[in-house]
Formats: sequence, C-alpha cells, structure tokens
Amino acid sequence: MGASVEVGPNGRILALSAAWFGDGARRRAEARRTARCVECDRALPSHRTPYCSRKCQWRFHGHYFWDSARSYVMLRDRYTCRLCGSRRRARELDVDHIVEIADGGAALEYSNLQTVCRGCHRAKTAAARSARAARGRGGPDADPMDPF
Ligand SMILES: [Zn+2]
Ligand SMILES: [Zn+2]
Repeated sequence: MGASVEVGPNGRILALSAAWFGDGARRRAEARRTARCVECDRALPSHRTPYCSRKCQWRFHGHYFWDSARSYVMLRDRYTCRLCGSRRRARELDVDHIVEIADGGAALEYSNLQTVCRGCHRAKTAAARSARAARGRGGPDADPMDPF
C-alpha cells in the first residue's frame, strides 16, 4: 500500500503520490459504483461519496498522504499521548513514527504511527538520535569483528 509515495524525513510527503491518482482513484470509483465504503466496506447511503464517515475518509487518505494519516492517528488515539497518557488539543500533539524512518520504519503504516505530546516526542527523538550516533561510533551493529 502506498509504495510509490515519496516520503522525506519525518514522514513529509515530498511529491503528490502517483498511487493516489492511479490505485486510489480506481478504488474510490469502485466504492461509489458499489455504494460500499472504500475503507471499511460498510454499505453507503448514496453513490455520492466513497466514504461512510470522516474517520474512514482520513484513514483512506492516510494511506497516501501524511497530513491525513496524522489526523486519523490522533482520532484513533483519542488525542491522548501514547507515552505519558496526557490528553491534549490536536495542535499540542504530534504523530510519531514508533520505528523511525531513518531506522527503517514505514512512513504511512498505521501500525507504526502513534500520537505523542510535544515533550515526549522531543525526548524520544533525542534518544533515538543518540542511539543512532552510538551505533555509528561502533555499537553492536557496527562491530567490525562481527561477521553478520
Ligand atoms: Zn467506512
Ligand atoms: Zn507525553
């Protein structure tokens, strides 16, 4: 899903996804034709829209676009930091890659995204950065004597 999306550091989409206009357009047209939600397959009241709800709209867009993935993940997590449990307004929250993109985490995979508050996000990002730096200085991943 979304393999052709071009993603920069922090999950920002660099270019509009070709997949959105190809695969995405085809799936939305099919959903309107069959009157079933493109995301959850629930029956739709009309053929006007391919989504049963705002939530499914964000969720579907989020397979292709970072901003929508962000909106959906905050809604899913009930605007609550998954690290310290504090509930905040959307503009005081970030959406974080559980496994950072620099460490091979998927940019637009919901299972790799979580809602975090600013303070927790800063702390986690700093910890990941120093862990990467430690590996770069010859941690277990960079041991020259390790044949693997
Ligand atoms: Zn739906
Ligand atoms: Zn927090």
